Amino acid sequence: MRILLIEDEDGIASFVTKGLTAEGHSVDRAAGAKDGADLAESRDYEVVLLDLVLPDGNGRDVLARIRAHTPEVPVIVVSALGEVDDKVTLLDLGADDYLTKPFAFAELSARVRANARQGKANARTLLVGDLSLDTKTRVAKRGERAADLPSKEFALLEHLMRHAGQVVTRQQLLDAVWGFDFDPGSNVVDVYIGYLRRKLDEPGRPSTIETVRGAGYRVPA
Ligand code: CA
Repeated sequence: MRILLIEDEDGIASFVTKGLTAEGHSVDRAAGAKDGADLAESRDYEVVLLDLVLPDGNGRDVLARIRAHTPEVPVIVVSALGEVDDKVTLLDLGADDYLTKPFAFAELSARVRANARQGKANARTLLVGDLSLDTKTRVAKRGERAADLPSKEFALLEHLMRHAGQVVTRQQLLDAVWGFDFDPGSNVVDVYIGYLRRKLDEPGRPSTIETVRGAGYRVPA
């Protein structure tokens, strides 16, 4: 995953970057408050690690800027004991988690994973390939096509996108969207898949939702 590290101390920055890179993550480092906030606005990150005492400003102001611009990204404050005088205020400002220096790399790594998972679960917009679904407005978009989805179509597409890359059976979709009592012989799933395809498929391009013969449906990951 892509991680933003806002940290002015070179030793800590290099320790964290080396460890996270070795785990396969890609780390951008900013050594100051302004650079950090600018980077957070210019690229998409899955987790932000934020030091509080920075040479050109306060991490709290960076946090406020990040929250105003990208409310969903998990922010873990990584700070020396004593810099965090009021953890409650920090969490109120929108930090998701905090870690006190010095810390063991294994703990940082575990927190990064946990917060990234939570961030994905909370994300307002689901993204799979060129398909996006805004879970608040229920607008789905693929390429230039956008559609407001009524509740069943929305729930169907959301379920398929949350299981992107997996085959989901008709029965699983019936259970998830229509409830367990629905007649298993009903073709309601196929009918609604048809509605979604008509709204989102573009001529000459593969369908938004694949039919997996004898098994069910899949949104390709
Ligand atoms: Ca610092």
